[in-house]
Amino acid sequence: MKKSVLILLLSFGILGVSFCQTANYEIYALRFADVGQAFPLSALAMDAPAGENVNAVFSIWLIKGNGKNILVDAGFLNDIPEAKDFSVVRYIRPDSAIIRFGLQPADISDIILTHPHWDHIDGVSLFPNAQVWMQKDDYNYFVGSAWQKGGNKGGFNERDVRMMLDLNLGGRLHLVDGDSKELLPGITVYTGSRHTYNSEYVLVKTGNNKVVLASDNAYTYYNIDHLKSAPPNSTFDTAGYVKQLQRMKTLVSDPKYIIPGHDAAVFTRFPTVKEGVVRIR
Ligand SMILES: [Zn+2]
Repeated sequence: MKKSVLILLLSFGILGVSFCQTANYEIYALRFADVGQAFPLSALAMDAPAGENVNAVFSIWLIKGNGKNILVDAGFLNDIPEAKDFSVVRYIRPDSAIIRFGLQPADISDIILTHPHWDHIDGVSLFPNAQVWMQKDDYNYFVGSAWQKGGNKGGFNERDVRMMLDLNLGGRLHLVDGDSKELLPGITVYTGSRHTYNSEYVLVKTGNNKVVLASDNAYTYYNIDHLKSAPPNSTFDTAGYVKQLQRMKTLVSDPKYIIPGHDAAVFTRFPTVKEGVVRIR
């Protein structure tokens, strides 16, 4: 065989391998609770018109494919005291939301935590086999500096700190170091919004499409649709938050594939596959 033909075949082989590594994931948003009170949009987007409310929900996201069942965030158990501040209604425990989906809690292979606020991290304990992924600086702040004088522990619950320490001791915690890291084939995390000390959002490549699961790095569609729409008092870096909203738009073919963290409209903009579940496609 001619050398040039061999090189050509080898390069096609390599291309073939890298193509196969982008799995055809199915991506779902699961709504497990609603905020049971009128929620001012201005609490989530600093330039929002006064008097306008948003229908706010609590969600987790499920990525299925490539032999994995991956959660982005894990929700919360309803006995956590903070849930009362939001008059939580229509609550389904996140592991039950998974069962409803035909999966057992033990089937969840991975959990990617966008940040350690109680409504995103508290439910990790429900999934006994999951490997858990979190930004290293976010974890270190969560278990350390946040509780020191001058630290910011807003949205952090002590039982979640203890749970994460145990998870680390048990060898199931994987600390991710920084921006633009591919954790699993086709699943990459990005930092810079600093909703918490170093929060992250998730880009999923599936088939020919790309989806950003923004979590609280884009609270609502209003944040995505407007400039200067960082949340007041909910980021360490307002300019960084806005910059990441703009960056998200460069990562997807259409802004509709940026999925915000707490906006009920997600569940009307995509096709319903089960009660409280939409498929992002
Ligand atoms: Zn949240």
